Amino acid sequence: MTRQLWAPWRLEYIRQADELEGCVFCLAASGEDEEMLVVHRGETAFVLLNKFPYASGHLMVAPHRHAGDFAGLTDAEALEAHRLAADGMTALSATFAPEGYNVGWNLGRVAGAGIVDHVHLHVVPRWSGDTNFMPVLADVKVLPEHLAETRAKLAAAWPT
Ligand SMILES: [Zn+2]
Repeated sequence: MTRQLWAPWRLEYIRQADELEGCVFCLAASGEDEEMLVVHRGETAFVLLNKFPYASGHLMVAPHRHAGDFAGLTDAEALEAHRLAADGMTALSATFAPEGYNVGWNLGRVAGAGIVDHVHLHVVPRWSGDTNFMPVLADVKVLPEHLAETRAKLAAAWPT
């Protein structure tokens, strides 16, 4: 049985995506971990929490380089992005024990990408009780605190 995740705050994000100044991934790549919700930094790519998550612990992996062309990723970037996604799942499993994951690249606005000119890999943890779990997150006012706490937990659980 497949259930559609319900994440109303995504609408705000999609509305804002065209108005944002600068690239959020480049800002995060050069920014401070806590403020930018960066969970882990690798050699060529890094991992951050999605501020507008589909589910608690929704991670994104992006190359440090501002690259909008998926085919243009270097071998090192492509490999590390997937290794970091796997490490992210290890940290998520240890922290939140999800029962499954959706992992993928949304390329192009029509495919659901909010930021189209800096490619990124989504790691979305899933629980069989997704729809029971989601209302906890639906209160947007609670979300920033929740994200800071989630970031700290995942950073601490990151495999070495
Ligand atoms: Zn960028």
